[in-house]
Amino acid sequence: MVCKIKVGVIGYGTIGKRVADAVMLQKDMELAGITGHSYNWRMDIAHKKGIKIFNAAEEGNPFAEVGIDVVDGIPELVKQSDIIVDCSPKKIGAENKEKYYLPAKRKAILQGGEKDKLVDTSFVAQCNYKDAVGKNYIRVVSCNTTGLARTLHAINQKYGVEEVYATMIRRGADPWDIRHGPINAIVPVLELPSHHGPDVATVLKGMKIFTTAVSISTTLMHMHNVIVDCKKTPTVEETIKLFENTTRVRMVDNSSKIRSTAEIMELAKDLGYARGDMPEICIWKEGIGVHENKLLYMQAIHQESDVVCENIDAIRAAMGFKDGKKSIEMTNRALGIK
Ligand code: NAD
Repeated sequence: MVCKIKVGVIGYGTIGKRVADAVMLQKDMELAGITGHSYNWRMDIAHKKGIKIFNAAEEGNPFAEVGIDVVDGIPELVKQSDIIVDCSPKKIGAENKEKYYLPAKRKAILQGGEKDKLVDTSFVAQCNYKDAVGKNYIRVVSCNTTGLARTLHAINQKYGVEEVYATMIRRGADPWDIRHGPINAIVPVLELPSHHGPDVATVLKGMKIFTTAVSISTTLMHMHNVIVDCKKTPTVEETIKLFENTTRVRMVDNSSKIRSTAEIMELAKDLGYARGDMPEICIWKEGIGVHENKLLYMQAIHQESDVVCENIDAIRAAMGFKDGKKSIEMTNRALGIK
């Protein structure tokens, strides 16, 4: 019998709970457990799913009084796992690496809230899987960077990219999140370029890309308006065909009345994706245009889910599975992605 990869998930929030579910759907992986930092509904649900919970509360055991059995501490989860996926809040992943993963010599996947310099490689499976094979520390880049990298990589491979200008129109907060977000404002990122452009270049090395960003009062998805100077500019029809044949990218259209991020979220539910997630980057057919050597397109990013499949491929790559295309196929099949 082939041994399954034992995966520990640290931080069971927006990304962590999805990664944990995705791990449980892979034939070659098993979930060693998750961490609980405080008692909340997510812990109840994890407990009902039979997931082993490791108490990571700063003090005591907040799970005892609600009758949830837990195992003690992050070090124990690290010990019981072959690899950790750290889905803790921004910058905590860096601390956890120093405190737990390095001393235990445990491989770990970090998320987009962490810095590129902490890891051996930043990662988007369909762009640079092979750079991550056998590596100890991999960073799955942010939801926005993942979306830009998926579509720009496809254009670069086929037509060549001279330079990219893109504007990120970002959701103010995740739908459940009552702590963040503009309520009645558009908030520009007053730093040029926004961090997204340099972040794309950590995956697509040498790509010339300049990004700006604003946050708006929505929770559903991000949107990107992208302008690409191409070496050989494709027609609109060729671009549609290219994106139709790109994995983890979905064409949507005005003609079928998908005119907004709200309708994409409804489509995701109708497609039967778990939690109503949309792991594919959605590009509007009618939003593609060509002007001289410039290709323009508009894409929507479901921030809560596009990186989940990337984490699964990053686990395989770190554990030495060499065939990136096969890993993407296995992940897609398990998660029902085209
Ligand atoms: P979140 O706040 O939803 O969840 C974080 C979880 O970590 C919570 O369950 C929290 O209890 C737990 N936690 C708190 N302190 C901890 C500690 N000291 N050690 C370990 N865990 C701790 O956060 P999130 O949105 O899931 O983000 C996690 C990472 O994923 C960040 O790096 C973020 O930048 C990245 N990311 C987030 C999104 C998004 O839209 N939410 C998208 C892509 C990437």
